[in-house]
Amino acid sequence: MQAGCHIYNSAPGDLNLVAELLRAGKLAALPTETVYGLAGDALNVASVKQIFAVKGRPFIDPLIVHVRDLLHAEELAEVNDRARLLAHAFWPGPLTIVLPRKAIVSDWVTASQSTVALRSPSHPVFKKLLELTGLALAAPSANPFGYISPTRAAHVQKILGDRIECIVDGGACHHGVESTIVDLSSDQVCILRPGPIGVDAIAAVLGEPVTPVKRSPRGQTEAQLAPGMLIRHYSPRTPAHLVDTFPEGKGSSSAWVFLKHPSVSELESAILAGAQAFWLSESGDVAEMMQNVYDLLHNLDSGGFSAIFVQRPSARLPGSEALIDRLTRACC
Ligand code: AMP
Ligand code: MG
Repeated sequence: MQAGCHIYNSAPGDLNLVAELLRAGKLAALPTETVYGLAGDALNVASVKQIFAVKGRPFIDPLIVHVRDLLHAEELAEVNDRARLLAHAFWPGPLTIVLPRKAIVSDWVTASQSTVALRSPSHPVFKKLLELTGLALAAPSANPFGYISPTRAAHVQKILGDRIECIVDGGACHHGVESTIVDLSSDQVCILRPGPIGVDAIAAVLGEPVTPVKRSPRGQTEAQLAPGMLIRHYSPRTPAHLVDTFPEGKGSSSAWVFLKHPSVSELESAILAGAQAFWLSESGDVAEMMQNVYDLLHNLDSGGFSAIFVQRPSARLPGSEALIDRLTRACC
């Protein structure tokens, strides 16, 4: 453990201490059901600025604010009927809703936009801390800006342990990729970021069409091209490539990442190419792939490989939108 960074667990005594730290304006890395977040009091400008400083995140990239429930959301945003429908269906859970903000929310959180992004997480540790503190907690992923998001306390310790005071270890994150973000601040419902909750599920609850994330030829979403948004990476430091066919050249110490357990002939090809084989799931289950993707990338990035090659998922694979999105950004 790095000097100064304390690892707490989810015992009540530990959570009371962490709640005190958060109430005092300090930051804590906390587990959520998506990825680990770096949490601080969303209404305390000093805490919010500290989140940006620790992550090296540009101030033009707005934060998601975590709330207990819909009632709590109403303190911060103009909640509309669509938001009520989605919150009833998916909160607490991995859905972030963008809404017109109320004056209580500062420009620092929203990157001066007139909207705020809200989510009510389901992880028991995060929920308990929302309850104990009574605060709304701003919490972007607990990683240096642009690096792979953490899905285990050990990832946070490795990448931010020398910059933060405490981490709560709540085990491995259930979903393993960041929340779905839906923009409900204008007439047209639009997905800003694909995630564990699919476009179809959102459209079904709303009973109306939803605009899926649109991509430019270079892979940016429209939202990321709009003012205040950024091209995002989530990338390992090791060069990473998304491939349809693994490269056959010999002599390199590369990692080949298959989507599911490789066949004997696939394993032989890897050995012949001087590569080590890994896989994201045993059977080809997309939820399992998402759960494992960042964990594996963290491990491979510390593994001394010269390159990481990842098998490209088919766009026809049901539920693969968020996985393809994150892999595309990690491998560019
Ligand atoms: P993360 O870094 O995973 O916490 O994700 C935060 C992302 O949420 C930002 O990079 C934006 O893409 C999105 N976001 C946050 N606030 C807003 C907002 N007010 N309007 C649109 N998107 C937002
Ligand atoms: Mg992030």
